[in-house]
Amino acid sequence: MDLFEKCYAFKEDQKVREMGIYPYFRMISSQQDPVVIMDGKPLVMLGSNNYLGLTSHPKVKEAARDAISRYGAGCAGSRFLNGTLDIHVELEEKLAEFMGRDACIVFSTGFQANLGTIASIVGREDTIFIDKFNHASIIDGCRLSYGAVRKYNHNDMNHLEVFLKQEEEKRGRVIIVDGVFSMEGDLAPVQELYSLARKYGARLLVDDAHGVGVMGNRGRGTCEHFGLLGDVDLIVGTFSKSLATVGGFVVGDREVINWIKHTARTLIFSASPPPSTMASVIAALQIIDEEPELLSQLWENTHFMMKEFKNLGFDIGSSETPIIPIVVGEDQAAFIMSRKLQDSGVFVNPVISPATPPGRALIRTSYMATHRREHLEKALEAFRQVGKELGLIS
Ligand code: PMP
Repeated sequence: MDLFEKCYAFKEDQKVREMGIYPYFRMISSQQDPVVIMDGKPLVMLGSNNYLGLTSHPKVKEAARDAISRYGAGCAGSRFLNGTLDIHVELEEKLAEFMGRDACIVFSTGFQANLGTIASIVGREDTIFIDKFNHASIIDGCRLSYGAVRKYNHNDMNHLEVFLKQEEEKRGRVIIVDGVFSMEGDLAPVQELYSLARKYGARLLVDDAHGVGVMGNRGRGTCEHFGLLGDVDLIVGTFSKSLATVGGFVVGDREVINWIKHTARTLIFSASPPPSTMASVIAALQIIDEEPELLSQLWENTHFMMKEFKNLGFDIGSSETPIIPIVVGEDQAAFIMSRKLQDSGVFVNPVISPATPPGRALIRTSYMATHRREHLEKALEAFRQVGKELGLIS
């Protein structure tokens, strides 16, 4: 059989395109701001992870420009060999301090941080316990690690404990979980997870891609929110959301980070992130501490939208964060709703199975500190009209 047969036979996207509701790879020709430009038209952006609005903050942009002038555009090599600049180490020290931990190592993406970290700390003799709704990069990291994997039902601590009890004493154990679940914006019960980890001699890794910059009084993330910032064994994060650019990191005890530094293949065999992104993140960390009003504004916007969506009668699941899902049902309904919202001047992302359970397709909305009330009100009016038209609300 020809390997490419499936590619030539693949027509799923075409069918959806012909219906005029294809929602992927849409081309934006502006910054990721509260209003973006698509096909020359302004759209209120409710589909970005730019939670603090820092991708276009003047200090973040200026830092990137300065770093390019000083170091050039890239490093042409891995961190392990020629690709470590002083600015990489400076960011690692600042991030470790920001997160209140011993040490940090930076990767080129959050995806690579998960792949590299998990495959580095877990081997054939170990078992990983993961939530069913964890991010794809955790699932793939587990595959790369050769460890045994036990997948427990979403946030079901009894189910997790059954697996932990069954585990053989001699195997190394780690629980890996998203701090904020990326599709529905609900939180992992980090305190219960931490207690179970300690009870059964397991380590705990929290992927806080959507928590850092968002959760906790000082924006240190979900572990800060639960009072466990210094206790969770490893915290993975990304620069592609609140931290304004692209890249990833892991923080933890010095010895563990040192091991990851010397064994993570996605770090050792891949080029280091460009200096401009390091400089942008350094600026972003500073802004988070100097402009705490951004975090308050993000939460004000989030609480406003949660209240208004509920008042309109939408099902918003159990979100506790600036990711607010609107449950729609069937996949096609999510595509149609997304298209109708676009026609009404709002950019949203439809999320369908397997990213959600079958029959629970949703419109994933997310908020920025920089959204103004007029943007949010415009979006709500569009949701009200489209929701009525599709029979989601009365
Ligand atoms: N973990 C989670 C929970 C995520 O949502 C994402 C990004 N979608 C990642 C990891 C990967 O991060 P990055 O975009 O930096 O590769």
